[in-house]
Amino acid sequence: MSEDGNQAKARLQEAQLSTQERRKKPRISQTPPAPPPRPKLEDYCSIIGKPQLEELRYLADDLRGKTVKMVNSTAVGGGVAEILNRLAPLLEELGVATHWEVITGGNDFFEVTKAFHNALHGAPYVLTREAQEVFLAHTEQNRMRMKFEEDLVVIHDPQPAGLVASRKDRPGKWIWRCHIDLSNPHPEVWGFLRPMVEQYDAAIFSSPAFARSLSIPQYLFYPCIDPLSEKNKDLEEGYLQKVCDDFGIDRSRPIVTQISRFDRLKDPLGVIQAYKMAKNYVDCQLVLAGGGASDDPEGSVVLKEVQEAAADDPDIIILDLPPWSALEINALQRASTLMVQKSLKEGFGLTVTEALWKAKPTIAAAVGGIPSQIIHKLTGMLVHSVEGCAYQIRYLLTHPEFAAQLGKNGREHVKENLLITTNVRRWLLLFRILLGLVAADPGREGAALEPAPALKNC
Ligand code: UDP
Repeated sequence: MSEDGNQAKARLQEAQLSTQERRKKPRISQTPPAPPPRPKLEDYCSIIGKPQLEELRYLADDLRGKTVKMVNSTAVGGGVAEILNRLAPLLEELGVATHWEVITGGNDFFEVTKAFHNALHGAPYVLTREAQEVFLAHTEQNRMRMKFEEDLVVIHDPQPAGLVASRKDRPGKWIWRCHIDLSNPHPEVWGFLRPMVEQYDAAIFSSPAFARSLSIPQYLFYPCIDPLSEKNKDLEEGYLQKVCDDFGIDRSRPIVTQISRFDRLKDPLGVIQAYKMAKNYVDCQLVLAGGGASDDPEGSVVLKEVQEAAADDPDIIILDLPPWSALEINALQRASTLMVQKSLKEGFGLTVTEALWKAKPTIAAAVGGIPSQIIHKLTGMLVHSVEGCAYQIRYLLTHPEFAAQLGKNGREHVKENLLITTNVRRWLLLFRILLGLVAADPGREGAALEPAPALKNC
């Protein structure tokens, strides 16, 4: 047979693999797709409605011509860059001139800031004078390189926090947006950063639990997802089927899914245990899909452990996905009957936000920012153990009407609080407050900004 004939035969055989065989040999895309065009404000109208869109325009009206600088430490990768990628153009479209800049730094700087990041999350660390000097030296270099002439300067996370030294003698307002969990920070590292943070006009945290006691006003801004991104946009039914076929997932039977990096703190082994316990009572398949295992030594160890734990069960489907799998993840979430996020520790837990947005009944651990998203028995089910998780899998699979109602409520909760458009609204309100553009009743706009009264400080 010719070369072409051989290839055609191989392709045909590949296409004819049974679901069971496909599970062992999932078809995973090896090349990143082209980036999609960026949505415009008007494109969100069908999701949030015209009045909400008009409200954004109204709130932006007085801010027209004002200038904003957003600063973070990376242009790609990570949730902050993803949010800024959407936020800056939307503010710009509303007439608020928004400029996004990224600080620079050598390996020594990013090693120090990574260690700070871990220590602020509670990891053990010895803060040396040398580390402080590296941090301050790079801050100085960035300060010399950057200009801060905008009306509002928003600094994201600890890495660029020291830039606030540039605010002297300038009228602009400075905001520190902290995306990380500061509930249990390393005392010395926090002691080093805190005097910088207290030079800002306001600080923003992602959850009441993440905030610190500070001398400046604090606001609560939930993280957000973009409903028009590849990860969250509506998908055709045919595409869901194709993705399930590619991964050997049988859509005629219940599908329970956890999407997470292969990380012990996401507790994939606990999910397998819970699934096995539930499976004694209800039929289902378990999908554990994640990424990062190939470039993270610990990730590949965890992936191996997960594969070993699943070895004898043909209904556990483990997928190690490349970083460009947003559409596939979207499809997996949409095709699932239930979503699980059984983390032992969590930041905000954007996978939960994504699942709720897709109106999926969701079972998640009561850790990190998850309880801000899952109101127990209303927008999902909160669990505290493997047994609890197993019980809820069994309960929701056997009570589909209740499960569907949870999903609907969850989507509403996200629509109200966790979409990029709500985030834009919060920024506009905060800018108005800080620039003194709030007319009659500042308390009202302040209140609209803050779902958590505990953080209200102005
Ligand atoms: N995610 C992904 N590929 C994966 C696993 C996760 O794109 O293989 C995405 C997931 O959809 C979510 C984000 O990574 O948008 C994870 O955010 P989360 O806050 O849930 O957890 P983190 O990984 O930041 O601890």
